Amino acid sequence: GSYIEENSASPVKLPTIKFTKLFINGEFVDSVSGKTFETIDPRTGEVIARVAEGDKEDVDLAVKAARKAFDDGPWPRMSGAERGRIMMKYADIIDEHIEELAALDAIDAGKLFSWGKAVDIPTVARLIRYYAGAADKIHGEVLKMSRELHGYTLREPIGVAGHIIPWNFPSSMFFMMSAPALAAGCTMIVKPAEQTPLSALFYGHLAKQAGMPDGVINVITGYGPTAGAAIASHMDIDKVCFTGSTEVGRKIMQAAATSNLKQVSLELGGKSPLLIFDDADVDKAADLALLGILYNKANMFPFVRRQKDWVVGDPFDPRSRLGPQVDKQQFDKILSYIEHGKREGASLLTGGKPVGKKGYFIEPTVFTDVKEEMMIATDEIFGPVMSLMKFKTIDEAIKKANNTKYGLAAGIVTKNLDVANTVSRSIRAGTIWINCYFAFDQDCSYGGYKMSGFGRHLGIEALHKFLQVKSVVTPIYNSPW
Ligand code: ADP
Repeated sequence: GSYIEENSASPVKLPTIKFTKLFINGEFVDSVSGKTFETIDPRTGEVIARVAEGDKEDVDLAVKAARKAFDDGPWPRMSGAERGRIMMKYADIIDEHIEELAALDAIDAGKLFSWGKAVDIPTVARLIRYYAGAADKIHGEVLKMSRELHGYTLREPIGVAGHIIPWNFPSSMFFMMSAPALAAGCTMIVKPAEQTPLSALFYGHLAKQAGMPDGVINVITGYGPTAGAAIASHMDIDKVCFTGSTEVGRKIMQAAATSNLKQVSLELGGKSPLLIFDDADVDKAADLALLGILYNKANMFPFVRRQKDWVVGDPFDPRSRLGPQVDKQQFDKILSYIEHGKREGASLLTGGKPVGKKGYFIEPTVFTDVKEEMMIATDEIFGPVMSLMKFKTIDEAIKKANNTKYGLAAGIVTKNLDVANTVSRSIRAGTIWINCYFAFDQDCSYGGYKMSGFGRHLGIEALHKFLQVKSVVTPIYNSPW
């Protein structure tokens, strides 16, 4: 891709960083230790701001606030309709701040400003409204019990939730976890990724503006092995939701098991195949392949197919198609995978290099002649690197698609309905996209098979993660009981 050197054409004012402290019980506070950490601008490698570094003591304070808000506060006690009304207000306030929020994710995560403004942040508001609409439709069932008993079930909020968030979608991940939890009547502690703390703190502020009671949403910024681990092992958190690497997911589950057996849901790594059959429209298939591999950092409208049109550059520049990688570590990791690919004998069709003199920009990269056992074929790279493999039969395609420890998603491009039906039922993954890719919607659940985790984001499935069932039984009048 070509590269925009300077940010000269940027018409957007960079965001002012207003919130850098922990958000606990409706207030912005310093960390107990007084420590802060740097959050880095991936366009330049320079410091944007210093942010409070939360640790175990801060998590304890946030859990106390969330516990109080759950045990004694109005949130789980108010009617679903009333919770929904506050959530609707929250969504409206977020809509009023779309530009500022998109700018925070652009400067902090390297996500394209235009895409954030058009897609990521409006998605957040839609998600909140979807679950706000569900808040007054939570109910149990009446049971026909076999003896002279009357039984019914209640669906009750699970309690205090801990959400541990990755950097790839700082805004939508925050609400994929928080919005259903809010609707259920839970209170929560949210820990954004250390790479991308800024929008999360802003969401804390906006929750207060929307009239969310104090202690319902608490935001603890900080690192994984300290603040994150304190959430996973906390004795007073009822449920932990984690999205991130499989390696850390394993630690979360261990911590939950050895502490209070809190419920766990995990959305972990993926290596999602796109199967293009020989009857497919080649242009359409190329569009979907690009969408699949570049989505996280790119602008997808309109599609550009030729690699030279993939302008890599400042996420604030409207000419940019692909922003920088989130941080130095991720940048180095992607480049090392590219080196592995070359060494293992894959052919580099295009890209493969960093771009520019500063920041963490990498060219869109395509390998051909990739073999199933190569690292670029087995590992989640989390960068703009595509690996192309060939198959001859449907069975071979299915076998190759299932030859992964992950099972997050898969795509199929074909006009043949029989092929689409057979393959979609044969792949062990949580989402199958037929003639589309990354087609998300708030009511369409998303999550993993196999080592991509368990539990689902989005849809009514996600609401049920935050509810538990209570059975209530009583004898019918005059029965032998
Ligand atoms: P990624 O590979 O996407 O960066 P990670 O799994 O490293 O994913 O991080 C995702 C989230 O998990 C981040 O918020 C990070 O701080 C947190 N995290 C990392 N290590 C731990 C840990 N040991 N315990 C709890 N949370 C952690």
